[in-house]
Amino acid sequence: MITLISIPRPGVGLTDDAVAYLEGAGFTPEEWAKRHDDADGMWRGDYCGCPDDRCVGNHHAVDADCYCLISLVEEAMQERRAES
Ligand SMILES: [Zn+2]
Ligand SMILES: [Zn+2]
Repeated sequence: MITLISIPRPGVGLTDDAVAYLEGAGFTPEEWAKRHDDADGMWRGDYCGCPDDRCVGNHHAVDADCYCLISLVEEAMQERRAES
């Protein structure tokens, strides 16, 4: 699903897979950055989509799906549902 061996998209700092996953859940990369305290919309987390910039290789293997992103997106969607 999220292949972390792919290269971060220039200017975004996320892989195409991470961007596609976020967009599939209805979040733009900018919204995702702002949600994680990057008020200017610039992503400073890891390229897999986890706000911890040392996620790849620490939270999970380089070639594994990022479960941080999956569960954070799940949480964000639940929050958004609760708001509306
Ligand atoms: Zn992580
Ligand atoms: Zn990750």
